[in-house]
Amino acid sequence: MSIWALIYTRVQWGALFVAGFGDRSANYPLREVWTHHTVMTHLSPNATVAQEMAEMRRIERVGQDRFGRGISYNFVIFPSGRIYMGLGASRIGAHTGGRNSISLSVAFAGNYETNRPTTAALATYELLLRDFHKEGIVAAPRTNGGHRDAPGHSSNACAGRHLQAELPGVNTRASRPAVTTAAPAAPKPAASKPVAKPAAAPPGSYADRTGWPERPVVQRINDQLWEDNAYESTKFALVEALRRAGYGTDSVTAWGRLQQISRWLRGRHNLRGPETQVEIWKRFQTYLKSVNRYAGAIDGIPGPITVRGIFGWLNDIRSAYL
Ligand SMILES: [Zn+2]
Repeated sequence: MSIWALIYTRVQWGALFVAGFGDRSANYPLREVWTHHTVMTHLSPNATVAQEMAEMRRIERVGQDRFGRGISYNFVIFPSGRIYMGLGASRIGAHTGGRNSISLSVAFAGNYETNRPTTAALATYELLLRDFHKEGIVAAPRTNGGHRDAPGHSSNACAGRHLQAELPGVNTRASRPAVTTAAPAAPKPAASKPVAKPAAAPPGSYADRTGWPERPVVQRINDQLWEDNAYESTKFALVEALRRAGYGTDSVTAWGRLQQISRWLRGRHNLRGPETQVEIWKRFQTYLKSVNRYAGAIDGIPGPITVRGIFGWLNDIRSAYL
């Protein structure tokens, strides 16, 4: 099983703020992977998903208060072995000063100066390193070390002495074939099912600012895919779907992909000339209904049910293309 099937999404844990400082997927493979600890609540390996999701929202709040761009880390692993998307791999975070745009950050939730990491958490990390290397996201299936090992950060205690001590072993195991490492204990999130809508966004948050249905349809889909909530492999699946449909894959920039999606939507729905956004959304809702991903009204108003439909559909094509 790929690490992607285990990662709880931003929608699932209820991310509220914009994800990081921009897209860097054009720079894959990332050259470095730095390990952190959050030095916040150290949950038990038996913690519930709800407890971990609440902690994710606290971690996000700390990052938002410090840097103003949501959660600071790309991924977060808990003592249970469960893993949650922070920013996702493609977004630039605020974790390892001077290396943020070229490195992936993986944070272990809790304090590893005073606690030992669990075998389940380490196994999840090894799976991430191995799979991300296989997918070309990181240059090597290894972490460069803890935060304190990064140039200019030697006075930092992060990632805690007990976690630091495990990192050479993590690298050894991550470079072996998959069969030699125990599977992580984390249960599979319901990737292709609609997920619970997070609590209402507070006024002024990112989620509150992206209004429906004023935003053009293509921009809205792009926002969802490249700023929020989507599996990395879902994005790749969409690009692959576009390529097979004859709409090109030359561009890896956000703007280029926006153009691809636009051309593809217009081609699929035979749109000519000026059409209202409502008409485009109606056609898209009709399409989602035809693939059993939308049960709402064909009203041209893209509410939460339409968005969940788009994600369900993208997860469908993800399994078809990967
Ligand atoms: Zn750190």
